[in-house]
Amino acid sequence: MSTRTADEPSLDAVLGRVADQFGTPAFVYLTDAIEQRLAELRARMGRWFSFSYAAKSNPNPELLRWLAPRVESIDVSSLGEFRLARAAGWAAGRASFTGPGKRDFEIEEAIADGLGELVVESVREAVVADRVARALGRVQSVLVRLSPSRIPKGFGDQMAGRPSPFGLDIESVAEELPRILALGHLRVAGFHIYSGTQCLKPEAICENYRIFLEAFRTVCTDFGLAPQRLVFGSGLGIPYHPGDSGLDLAQVADGVAPDLEGFIGDARFQQTSLSLELGRFLVGEAGYFLTRIISIKESRGSRIGICDGGLNNHLPAAGRFGMVIHRNYRMHRVGGGEASEKIDLVGPLCTSIDRLASGVLLPRLEEGDLVAIHGSGAYGLTASPLHFISHPLPREVLVEGPRLRDATRALGFDDAKGPVVMGQGAKSRPPSP
Ligand SMILES: *Cc1c(COP(=O)(O)O)cnc(C)c1O
Repeated sequence: MSTRTADEPSLDAVLGRVADQFGTPAFVYLTDAIEQRLAELRARMGRWFSFSYAAKSNPNPELLRWLAPRVESIDVSSLGEFRLARAAGWAAGRASFTGPGKRDFEIEEAIADGLGELVVESVREAVVADRVARALGRVQSVLVRLSPSRIPKGFGDQMAGRPSPFGLDIESVAEELPRILALGHLRVAGFHIYSGTQCLKPEAICENYRIFLEAFRTVCTDFGLAPQRLVFGSGLGIPYHPGDSGLDLAQVADGVAPDLEGFIGDARFQQTSLSLELGRFLVGEAGYFLTRIISIKESRGSRIGICDGGLNNHLPAAGRFGMVIHRNYRMHRVGGGEASEKIDLVGPLCTSIDRLASGVLLPRLEEGDLVAIHGSGAYGLTASPLHFISHPLPREVLVEGPRLRDATRALGFDDAKGPVVMGQGAKSRPPSP
């Protein structure tokens, strides 16, 4: 962002303290901003939905610990995330487990530990889960993930209406769902749809929820089911780039209210709880990536700032996370100043793809200056190739009011059980050479 906003002086004071106390590069997460976002979500959508945090958006252990008493449930996408959530104080029963390629040992440990719901993505997986549950003497609750046949325009990432590894294609439900319902050690507690995300258009989001409601209603009616829980992958996007405007949640709520009211008024859904599952909308804008300019180079008419963190720490900001063309993230110079000069910002890596900004208009930057990249609270550190070129790991800092908490994590999963490593307690091993 090239202009200063009213709250930047205090934000910059915090960012300056982080740099002084912890060094850079660093990811900084402001819990006050998450708290505010959660309050807004509850005010607009809480009439219909409880909330589920998608751990993959940011599984920082301190952040998970902070979220545990504040959000109803958590969705994990691997056994590693499940262990992180457990170690951070989430009861297993509050967790759902998604992912198209779950391995037997992951399913086994999660079920044995009391997982709330396994989100079943295929008949094959259901059969495995049934066998595991039977061996453990359990009946495991599952949500069946559905892949709708369409998604409205306007979603940055689309998983429906095309060949997809996720869930049962809605076109195949008639054939596949009976095979899952027939498994004696699984109890189908409901359904799950997550078919697209990073949408900034309220009407497209409403239309997508109508597609979900229609799919849920059709499947439940066809099979005579009164589901306990239905999960809506929210799709709510955040403004990453200059010129993007944030989503108006009131418009989403107003647009979809009649559909949701009609749905919950249906006798079949009297006992059904609806969950909105989301990551980036909750934590994305609460995070900043803080990097210091190591060196300035004037090169063939361009000014280039070389930063201490780059693509190795923050792949999405470098435009390498599902974007077709690189657009600059919103960013500002810590300490403010008049935006006066275009500059390219690169990271410290020996590769030309390590570029954080092209021709971004900022106050004149000098060596030693700090730059804060916005929208970095989700899909930052754990979506990045941290080992590439072997620089130190970035710091992570959780800011709670005036308090700064070191939230830097070790590589791997530093919970009580240790990392998930194949061959150490993992029942399904890779074939031996
Ligand atoms: C990633 C993911 C989400 C969250 O997506 P956001 O874009 O971060 O809100 C929700 N549900 C599932 C199943 C996911 O895999």
